[in-house]
Amino acid sequence: MSRVYNFSAGPAALPESVLSRIESELLDYHDSGMSVMEMSHRGPVFSEIAGNAEQTLRRILSISDDYAVLFLQGGATLQFSAIPLNLCGSTGTADYLNTGSWSKKAIKEASKFCNVNVVASGESSNFTTVPKPDSWRLSSDPAYFHFTLNETIAGVEFLEIPEVDNCPLVTDASSTLLSRPLDVSRFGLVYAGAQKNIGPAGLTLVIVRRDLLEKSSQSMPTLLSYQVMAETGSMSNTPPTFAWYVAGLVFEWIENQGGLEVMGELNRAKAAALYSAIDSSDFYSNPVDPAYRSWMNVPFVLAGPDLDGLFLDQAAERGLTNLKGHRSVGGMRASIYNAMPRSGVDALIEFMADFEREHG
Ligand code: PMP
Repeated sequence: MSRVYNFSAGPAALPESVLSRIESELLDYHDSGMSVMEMSHRGPVFSEIAGNAEQTLRRILSISDDYAVLFLQGGATLQFSAIPLNLCGSTGTADYLNTGSWSKKAIKEASKFCNVNVVASGESSNFTTVPKPDSWRLSSDPAYFHFTLNETIAGVEFLEIPEVDNCPLVTDASSTLLSRPLDVSRFGLVYAGAQKNIGPAGLTLVIVRRDLLEKSSQSMPTLLSYQVMAETGSMSNTPPTFAWYVAGLVFEWIENQGGLEVMGELNRAKAAALYSAIDSSDFYSNPVDPAYRSWMNVPFVLAGPDLDGLFLDQAAERGLTNLKGHRSVGGMRASIYNAMPRSGVDALIEFMADFEREHG
């Protein structure tokens, strides 16, 4: 068996020890005589798996009982619709900050269900920075303020939570949740697709303040209602049981690493090493404002785009895979989530230096 350093943006690398644990439990989970994939979601064995996963997540993120934790399907994309449907309520207006591709998608979808006020857009900077907070045109009585905590494609991340105090904050944390501590109590709702730092695709986490559940309208599709999903323990229908189980193992792995403070320090150092290698070279560049550079997704371009193919081929030969940038922007992107060890980032930096020496 040989495993590569997988820099995929998602679905992304999982911790190897979690994969080994899944392998060892795959055919016979804890003497149940069956795989987790084969058992009833309402039976005692899965109920324990589900409950433990939630409790571990609550511990590592310090989530209080004021919040419901929902294990849903449909990806972060379905939340783009569920959020306005659940939260827009009587005001009918929500504020959105546009910081890039994922914000834009959230805005487009929310506009179908409520009145969206785009408070500011980073488009004029080609989404390389976030518009200054004093330029944001907030509405007077919004139901919530939505922003994307980490723009996975352009690599723009909020390292501080914005100060907005006239309504609940809602954030798409898909590509950064669990990479460092996050003060959940600052938010009305945090959501994330699982396939980056949480587990396999097919699971979506929603952490929502319980007082907001009452805003869910009666007429929306049942499975989109946070109130219904909270009341049924995310089991109004069959949940994504295997992905939920794997997420629980990942939460345990994070706890065993020392929790989110430790993960955050490792991730900060990994990102700093990679940005420093890019900045100290004349061959590679990253356009993002250093104040907003993502710790998770590091896009970069080569001095000559005609070398992209060769770079990717030679990287793959060294076991460094999935470095191709998103199709909408080109270039390269190294996604360095929790499961990417420091050794993988160091191997990438060494390869980049060798490639530059040969072709720069
Ligand atoms: N938001 C962000 C920030 C993302 O990175 C992604 C996926 N890459 C999505 C939303 C969409 O997620 P999904 O494919 O799970 O719907």
